[in-house]
Amino acid sequence: MNAVIQPGMPSPAINDSEPPAQPEACCVIPLPAMRSVVGDTLADGCPCMAEERLQLIASVFNATSDGIVITDQDARILEINDAFTAITGYSRSQVLGHTPALLSSGRHGPDFFLGMWEGLRTTGAWEGEIWNRRANGELVAEVLRIQAVHVGRDARLHYVGVFRDITSGKQQEWLARHDALTELPNRAMALEALQSLLPLAQRQGQQLAVCHLDFDGFMAVNEAMGPAQGDALLRTAAARVRQAVRSSDMVARFGGDEFMLLLGGLDTGSAAVPVLERVQHALAQPHTVGGESLRLSASIGVALYPGDGMAPEPLLRAADQAMYRAKQLGKNRVCWSGQGSERQAVHDALLQELGQALQAGEMCLHYQPKVCARTRRCLGVEALVRWQHPRRGLLPPGAFLPAVIGTPLEVALDRWVLREAVVQLVRWRNQGCELTVAVNVSPATLALPDLAGTVAAIVREAAPHQVLPLEGLELEVLETAALQDLEAAGRAIEACARQGIAFALDDFGTGYLSLSYLQRLPVNTLKIDRSFVASMLERRGDLHIVRAVIGLAAAFGVTTVAEGVETVEQAHVLADMGCHELQGYGIARPMPLSQLETWLHKDPAQRM
Ligand code: C2E
Ligand code: MG
Ligand code: MG
Repeated sequence: MNAVIQPGMPSPAINDSEPPAQPEACCVIPLPAMRSVVGDTLADGCPCMAEERLQLIASVFNATSDGIVITDQDARILEINDAFTAITGYSRSQVLGHTPALLSSGRHGPDFFLGMWEGLRTTGAWEGEIWNRRANGELVAEVLRIQAVHVGRDARLHYVGVFRDITSGKQQEWLARHDALTELPNRAMALEALQSLLPLAQRQGQQLAVCHLDFDGFMAVNEAMGPAQGDALLRTAAARVRQAVRSSDMVARFGGDEFMLLLGGLDTGSAAVPVLERVQHALAQPHTVGGESLRLSASIGVALYPGDGMAPEPLLRAADQAMYRAKQLGKNRVCWSGQGSERQAVHDALLQELGQALQAGEMCLHYQPKVCARTRRCLGVEALVRWQHPRRGLLPPGAFLPAVIGTPLEVALDRWVLREAVVQLVRWRNQGCELTVAVNVSPATLALPDLAGTVAAIVREAAPHQVLPLEGLELEVLETAALQDLEAAGRAIEACARQGIAFALDDFGTGYLSLSYLQRLPVNTLKIDRSFVASMLERRGDLHIVRAVIGLAAAFGVTTVAEGVETVEQAHVLADMGCHELQGYGIARPMPLSQLETWLHKDPAQRM
């Protein structure tokens, strides 16, 4: 009976200029103590009806095991029977005057109710299955028949709904196809939906995006907050994803923190981009769980039908692989499957060009200073790669790094950057300048079987007269990359430390706080992710996180660097909290070597 009900739903009785269609046969409503409701009308309409018959009908009305609800033409409830209360848990006084929207489960979209209205308008009746919610919040499945009836001399329109509780049978059927925690479709149902959507997409000449979404660092949240809070977070996050996509899209939970999004009706693959951006934006808003505010992001891998596969399994595999690549890039990333023919061509061309660019000397380094939080003296620089593209101009790493992930160029590029950075470091050292140089290394480089040996070989090649250990070189690894294999990362970092090469954990603190693994990762520096720095003055929770990271890092004897410092106020607060170093546009943007040398001569007191 939700039709009469959905807030904002047009009421046919109100909005239709046409008079409502008469039901086929005039229906006598078996109404009980309805004198108070329609009593006179009823008695007037049926003069033969004696008081005794009314009482008899009233007892039948209440004795039936089916729930009955009677509303006026605006869907306001006029009367219910006892079974209504037994099924829904709502008493008569709780529902009279309300619309059946009170029972709404939120499970049905506007199409469902439009269909219901259409039935009532054209035939005067509607019958079907509906999910409602009991007073205690439980879902209830009902078989419902609604009949439009006209009562009394003025033939006033009423609706009579008769329903039966079919929850237990439905629940079994429903559970087989849904995830009980989030109430989203499960893997089985999603695969069925995908299977049936493929021929439709083919007929309509449209594309379909299969997206594998996996929350970043969810395991750590679960461990830190406990499974009950973890479940609560999954529920709210799932609801946000569901709301962010279009009503025709499907969101399914595959288990754990893995979800699948099925975006259909796409004229081009890029039509999926705004939908995925909405999903990322919705997830990025703070989540309040157990009184704590925390943030969540997701890595998303996208495969397109027909480019990346013609059947559900290959499409899911391609989306999985793309998601894996997204994880390797850090957090909150979207990666597209490389198999799509159009995309593959662009990808291949880019890789080929990049390979040549490395040879042709089109790659260059920009340096971003890191300064002492108290004195603003420059302590070191971070080397950031750029591509001076002959046609497209200076490209930031975001424009080409995603393409190299998983290819041999990933390590080749890191080797090139490392060589350049070491040459510069040794040059500075020879000039008596004590700046440190930090170099970002990709997950593939971190996973090399002998990273320390590789770095030593590069140092020997770049600076033949240099004797190891090489002071002043620092390698930055993404926190997410180190976490992929904590033991192996720990071994690689230790071996490098023996050669005087320091390590920093980059983009540290991705919405959860798990410093316990610092014991197993002998890093020298934590770089606090710039998202925390950006919001710490507005959000008390983020300020607490930054303070906790600085405090715990100090306890471990680890240096803290705040990334993304843009304002004087941020710099002051960070220095007061004991953060050692600052980096960010507020101090200096990444710049080519020539500009850096001028910048280094600036008075430190004027560096912000
Ligand atoms: P990252 O290592 O966290 O580097 C810092 C990034 O944040 C840089 O972007 C920098 O320009 C930007 N940034 C610094 N201060 C601010 C600020 O105050 N506000 C804002 N909004 N941004 C700021 P960039 O150069 O585009 O590099 C992006 C990422 O690409 C780096 O993040 C790093 O993960 C990766 N990357 C850069 N160079 C290399 C490289 O040579 N090798 C590898 N493997 N990865 C690299
Ligand atoms: Mg970095
Ligand atoms: Mg960083």
